[in-house]
Amino acid sequence: MTSNLSTTHSAGGVRVARSKSELRASLAEARAEGRSIGFVPTMGYLHEGHVSLLRAARAECDVVVMSVFVNPAQFGPGEDLDRYPRDEERDMALAAEAGVDFVYAPPVEDVYPQGFSTHVEVEGLTEVLCGDPTRRGPEHFRGVTTVVAKLFNIVGPDVAYFGQKDAQQAAVIRRMVRDLDFPLRVETLPTVREEDGLAMSSRNAYLAPEDRARAVALSRALGAAERLAGEESLEAGLEAARRELSAAGIEPEYLEARDAEELQPVAELNGRPVLVALAAQVGGARLIDNVLIRP
Ligand code: AMP
Repeated sequence: MTSNLSTTHSAGGVRVARSKSELRASLAEARAEGRSIGFVPTMGYLHEGHVSLLRAARAECDVVVMSVFVNPAQFGPGEDLDRYPRDEERDMALAAEAGVDFVYAPPVEDVYPQGFSTHVEVEGLTEVLCGDPTRRGPEHFRGVTTVVAKLFNIVGPDVAYFGQKDAQQAAVIRRMVRDLDFPLRVETLPTVREEDGLAMSSRNAYLAPEDRARAVALSRALGAAERLAGEESLEAGLEAARRELSAAGIEPEYLEARDAEELQPVAELNGRPVLVALAAQVGGARLIDNVLIRP
């Protein structure tokens, strides 16, 4: 879709803002009237996972804002920034269907003006799992927290919605909101899956058919981990998960059990929610998935 970069226009009932000043102006009236604002940040290429967040925002808030921004700051060198899938026209149609009021879809310069030099860093939580320096590294999460902090300042939401699919990201955002006193509530909603269990992800578009078939092993592995953790032990659960992955020829980048909020390793179920998280390269896609084992 080609769009006028300086004006808000309607796309099936959704108003699209290309600049922060324009979005702020659009939201000023709602804010002045005390209407609640729900916000769903995305990188676009929407699927049912995103739509579940939009629907929750629609059900709970007076005004629903979605952002679509493929954030360069959270991609490392050699990652998939350039080939990240995009389809703005379809995104706008799905947003309209879900009842979104405003979409903020800015060009990179609106978010990162020349001379941009300020960052938000959450320590500790961002240095493990995907943030391990041998993997995407803490810089990935620094990119996420910086852009999300900016988006919170631009949108000024009462509630912001995130997916449990990106469990570490959600934990990092919750910590940032608490530590920096952002005046909003973070809602973390369950992972939406394909019929066979594969967690929905924009990156699933990278999977060749044979890899798509193998990728179901991730959710199967996590299902086995959850079952065995309950029946035997967390270690037996992780062992069962490793076997499922191995049977599909998948070598996980990591498969770990951690405290769901603090993200420190846990060896056994301990009365607190435990996150079993994994990442694996499957063909052309680096996939992540997790299961939350509640006490
Ligand atoms: P993304 O566009 O991948 O940055 O994701 C935008 C938001 O949608 C994040 O809060 C994600 O955690 C969430 N999300 C992505 N995939 C899913 C899914 N399968 N189920 C639920 N939420 C998801």
